[in-house]
Amino acid sequence: MRRVRDGEVPKDGGTAIQDDPDRPVFNGNGEDDYVCVECANVLATAMSATYMTRRVRIRCGRCRTVNVSAHDDLDRPRDAS
Ligand SMILES: [Zn+2]
Repeated sequence: MRRVRDGEVPKDGGTAIQDDPDRPVFNGNGEDDYVCVECANVLATAMSATYMTRRVRIRCGRCRTVNVSAHDDLDRPRDAS
């Protein structure tokens, strides 16, 4: 994960808020775990890279840093639809 840059947050997206720092917000069937860029708290487990796009953001329940997936550099914008 990495920080969200200024002006990067899409207007159509939402930010998942982690209420319990000890409990990941998302739990999928993929291969990757995602941790907070700031404090290494676990935010999501077993996620697939295809799901963790730019629109998926998670606010860390421990340090309140908003994280975004680092995989989005590979994901071209698809706003045409
Ligand atoms: Zn954190």
